Amino acid sequence: MPISDSTIKALLAEGRAILEHLDNPALEARLLLQWVSGFSHGDIILREKEHLSSKQIDDYRALLAQRKSGRPFDAITGEREFWSLAFKVSAHVLTPRPDSELLIETALEIFAKTPPETILDIGTGSGCLAICLLKEFPDAIATAIDLSPEALAVARENAKRHGVADRLVLIEHDFVCPVAGVFDLVVSNPPYIAEAEALPDEVKNHDPALALFGGADGLQAYRAIFKWCFASLTPKAAALFEIGATQRRAVTEMIEQMCKQQNFTGKIISKQDWAGQDRLIGWTSR
Ligand code: GLN
Repeated sequence: MPISDSTIKALLAEGRAILEHLDNPALEARLLLQWVSGFSHGDIILREKEHLSSKQIDDYRALLAQRKSGRPFDAITGEREFWSLAFKVSAHVLTPRPDSELLIETALEIFAKTPPETILDIGTGSGCLAICLLKEFPDAIATAIDLSPEALAVARENAKRHGVADRLVLIEHDFVCPVAGVFDLVVSNPPYIAEAEALPDEVKNHDPALALFGGADGLQAYRAIFKWCFASLTPKAAALFEIGATQRRAVTEMIEQMCKQQNFTGKIISKQDWAGQDRLIGWTSR
């Protein structure tokens, strides 16, 4: 495409037209333009009559073409926002979803009066849950485990970026094995997709299978984790798990069984996401 008008305003209009098939072409075009130019949203508004360099324009158009052909936004930029923080993402980590913010929100409710001192994040991926919790609970320390060393490297970078690296221990560890120590708060967004479930291409082709699939019925991770995690809780603890929309009953039964075996008293909590779907199941003795 010839550079007929290289002002920010014209480039945004061009981007909107190219991405018109998406849900929010104006937003996506603006974010890609911000990405190549380094400008903030405010800069874009104030400087709309200014020109970008031909290199920036080439980059912008290349990104628009990738997005138009179905590459997810965060795969292009390598970043995703979660709980208002920017997280580095890669092909080795599950892209943080807004649904998972429910885990943070619920932890804040449960620990509103007495913050947790020790936190465990099982299958941390990008590190988003552990890192946001450390930001919210500035005196806490966290352990985060993941089977993937590549994911742990991403989590480490994110922890540094958000200034919590000195309070986060990252361990290459399979969640079928118990983690040493006891914790006030355990969180996990484990792989919970059933193997036969059909997923949209944007998910199937870009999120790692390790972070998505939880065996034939999608419940394998919960089975493995519940075997040991109740014994890793302090007396006034909470454990919060993200679940798939159809899994509430099955996971509740597993938790009830575990509580009976471990003689735990307390209550089971469940929550729905913004779309009204079951998304969280947990246990609290606080
Ligand atoms: N929420 C993701 C999805 O539905 C799955 C995440 C997971 O398995 N933990 O695509």
